[in-house]
Amino acid sequence: MKQVYIAADMMDAELFKDYLLARRLPAIVKGAMLTGIIGEIPTNTYPTVWVDDDRDYDLARKLVKQYEAEGLAKGEGEKWSCKHCGETLGPQFTQCWSCGNQRE
Ligand SMILES: [Zn+2]
Repeated sequence: MKQVYIAADMMDAELFKDYLLARRLPAIVKGAMLTGIIGEIPTNTYPTVWVDDDRDYDLARKLVKQYEAEGLAKGEGEKWSCKHCGETLGPQFTQCWSCGNQRE
């Protein structure tokens, strides 16, 4: 099993897993389930996507690039920075979580 993708959030991870499954690459999402376990602080709280079969790794990495490119094309994959406080925000946010400034 090999890790092929680090997702921004759970939704992103699930989307990419489905993206791989639709192309007949068996994949799973890991990591996010660990968050919230008492006494255990994960060093990486981002969910990750893994392929079952190591031989699928190279193809999966190509699909990551394709997936990201398609996301950008749809205008959904691009991060933005808040003009007020400079915070970097994910594309799913329309408002800065840090200062509440609206995306322009
Ligand atoms: Zn801000």
